Amino acid sequence: MPKIIVLMGAPGAGKGTQARLLQERLHLPQISTGDMFRALKEAQTPLADEVRVLMAAGQLVPDDVTIRVVRERTAQEDCRNGYILDGFPRTPAQAAMLEQLAIEQGNAIQAIEIRMPRELLAKRMTGRRNCPVCGEIYNIYFRPPRVDNVCDLHPQTQLVHRADDTPETVEARLITYEEQTRPLLDYYQAKSVLFIVDGTREPEDIYRDIEKAVKSEK
Ligand code: AMP
Repeated sequence: MPKIIVLMGAPGAGKGTQARLLQERLHLPQISTGDMFRALKEAQTPLADEVRVLMAAGQLVPDDVTIRVVRERTAQEDCRNGYILDGFPRTPAQAAMLEQLAIEQGNAIQAIEIRMPRELLAKRMTGRRNCPVCGEIYNIYFRPPRVDNVCDLHPQTQLVHRADDTPETVEARLITYEEQTRPLLDYYQAKSVLFIVDGTREPEDIYRDIEKAVKSEK
């Protein structure tokens, strides 16, 4: 049965890094609602304005919008053999929708929690930098690029700092996570589909554990 791999964990835990590795190596599409909303907020529409304000405040985009976006994206052909969700679901309503979607699509859900102590998360987020060309994720404290603020793979390209990775927004995002998203871990645990990995290790070590869970037939 094809799998929906649901990457869970607080912002800054390393979901994006693992989603990229899984996509590259298992050839499954990575669906990041955060990336989709970052693209959407560049438009000149009332919805883009709303998303911009919510993201800057570290709050969630409304469920109806998020659910619509995920339903449309996962209906595409490349999701036929399963897909990776990075940053979805984040609320009970989104989890309920995903349950329904999995039944409709004939997919099994495999949730993975990348667990990271609270005190490390803020530094992981404020230190994060991305290459705007290839999406590679660096961290000035934990995984600096070879040359200051330049992508290793694209030497002409300056890295970017996400607008919501500033100290004020980071705190708000962590509170939003605790209140709205963390309870979903219990939900997946109760369904026996949650696999927990220690996120404080090297990305390759974390990846190995995740791949094992994803390839298991349970
Ligand atoms: P992320 O890149 O996953 O940290 O997401 C960045 C921001 O996008 C979040 O702080 C939310 O404002 C919005 N967002 C991403 N995914 C969701 C979701 N599943 N539900 C609601 N808002 C989301």
